[in-house]
Amino acid sequence: MKGKTGSGRKTSAGAFQGLREDIRVYLRLIRLLNQYNRGWTILFLAAFMNGGMPFVAIWLSAMLLDALYAGRPAAEMMGWALAGAGVSLLMAVLKHFAMRQKNIMWWEMQHRMAEPLMKKTMEMDYALTENARVRALRARQDEYRKQGRDVFERFLEQLELFLTSCVRLVFSLVTVWPFLAGQLLGGWDGRADTGPFTLLAAAALIGSLLLNHWSVTRQGVRRKEIHREHEDENRLNSYMMDEVVLSTEAGKDIRIFHQQKMLESYGDQMNRNWRRMTLQHAANDMRHLGLQGFLSSCVGGIVYLYVAFCAWIGSISTGNVVRYAGAVQQFIQAMTDLSASWNYMHYDRNLMDEYLEYLDLKNERKKGTIPVEKRRDGRFLVEFRNVSFRYPGSERYALRNLNVRLEIGERMALVGRNGSGKTTFVKLLCRLYDPTEGTILLNGVDIRKYDEQEYRRLFSVVFQDFQIFSFALGENIAGSGRVDEARAMDALRRAGLEDLYRKMPDGLATMINRDFSDTGMEISGGEAQKLAMARAIYRDAPFVILDEPTAALDPIAENEIYTGFHEIIGNKTALFISHRLSACRFSKEILVFEDGNVIQQGSHEELVAAEGLYRRMWQAQAKYYR
Ligand code: ADP
Repeated sequence: MKGKTGSGRKTSAGAFQGLREDIRVYLRLIRLLNQYNRGWTILFLAAFMNGGMPFVAIWLSAMLLDALYAGRPAAEMMGWALAGAGVSLLMAVLKHFAMRQKNIMWWEMQHRMAEPLMKKTMEMDYALTENARVRALRARQDEYRKQGRDVFERFLEQLELFLTSCVRLVFSLVTVWPFLAGQLLGGWDGRADTGPFTLLAAAALIGSLLLNHWSVTRQGVRRKEIHREHEDENRLNSYMMDEVVLSTEAGKDIRIFHQQKMLESYGDQMNRNWRRMTLQHAANDMRHLGLQGFLSSCVGGIVYLYVAFCAWIGSISTGNVVRYAGAVQQFIQAMTDLSASWNYMHYDRNLMDEYLEYLDLKNERKKGTIPVEKRRDGRFLVEFRNVSFRYPGSERYALRNLNVRLEIGERMALVGRNGSGKTTFVKLLCRLYDPTEGTILLNGVDIRKYDEQEYRRLFSVVFQDFQIFSFALGENIAGSGRVDEARAMDALRRAGLEDLYRKMPDGLATMINRDFSDTGMEISGGEAQKLAMARAIYRDAPFVILDEPTAALDPIAENEIYTGFHEIIGNKTALFISHRLSACRFSKEILVFEDGNVIQQGSHEELVAAEGLYRRMWQAQAKYYR
């Protein structure tokens, strides 16, 4: 019992705290909206129009009725009717304008409000992009975007309803104010005692509002429960639609491995889930919307009876029956919508919090300031000193206590089994991650002290999972809209893409792939790899790093790459990861990776002569060539 009382008290303090938090988050979203798209303020006008429109009819009907009962001349009534028509027309035009602007704002917003997410994603520490929590945050936002309603759309929808309800509330209070003031301040008018009826009507109104609020809240809570209950299923549904059934990539495997039956049974399961969820939502909505409708009708009836009674005893005019009863109906509607919109916004707090958490992710790596020495002779010395590294969130060391020196102007090859740490080594070298322990030095200075952008400019890397975009050829090579044509052509030639280039209808302006152009050039995996290499050459950085540069190439192209290696990288320091040991023969030095460490280092001849992993790998591969 004791515990219960305690938690009760805590809950009311918690509720207040929760309300403050809610408001803080909404204000933050509004500030973001302001920053990116001020157009959202059109909602005020839309809300004013939507909330105010019904009152034009209410007021004018009341005026007309009063004029009729008072036996005013027909001309006066005509005047009221015309005024009514005029005001309605004006409101309709304004509403139309507001709706038009609102639609424009809505479309713009869908584009503009993707910007904060995009910017954040491109500017955050690379390590964060691989963090599981960060990915989950991002995936949730994407999921809602794909459903066509992201965090801002959902928020604005409810904000509009909220504002409309506020306008409606103000108008209804202003409309009934003379009556309220008369009842509360002016005392009874003496003609008949309406007191008990007033109390009864007020009690019915307040009771219904409280019950309504309870119903709206329950409805929201239940909706959330249903959503939670089906969350995993919904994720499966999205996965099925996006990655499996509608994916052209998966189409090949589905056919070859006869996966249709399996996928259809998943599809059936999906449909059953949808149906169950839809029925649960329908039951929830029916129960509560029914109750809310019932309450509204009941209290509406009571209010009508009450004001009719007041008119009957002569305390208000006939016109006021329409005026007050209409206003009270609007009041009830406004209160229902207020709690519904507030509830909906509160219901979305998780999504909003996750959105803001994503934007607030801090870049934790130190950004150095020292400029990188510009050396014409390209003389750089890189040293890994006792470097160990674990990926964020991982217990295992991907690199362990590594000590390596890279002399400039050398060709260096990294070899070793899959998962032995070669790519990780390259990522650390390019400062995509910082070592967990130890230091990496460039010309004797800790690389964290260098200006990050400048430092990264030293490297040109072709990762195994490089990305070529469906943009113009030139843009892909230059990584920019401004393309130095001569340099791009030179890069294409050195990467062995001259033949392909001749087939390109618009030269460097030819689009890669057909995503955005019917004349786009579809390229093979090998051509894409050469293109990635051309991009690396164009960049003209002192270090060229190639991770399995020939994995997608045919043997002839591969041979061309290795024999033409000097042509490709000129006098740069080249580092390449390869399983093709015959190709490593040309490098001055070979690092053999095993379990996150370099276990052997030397020239091909030295390593073949020595006992060890390299010799075993070499023998295993060489027997196919004998
Ligand atoms: P290699 O290039 O030699 O094949 P990697 O450097 O890619 O090896 O991987 C070294 C180890 O780090 C592997 O055990 C791999 O599973 C792990 N690893 C690679 N990338 C990640 C990552 N983003 N998060 C966690 N572990 C990773």
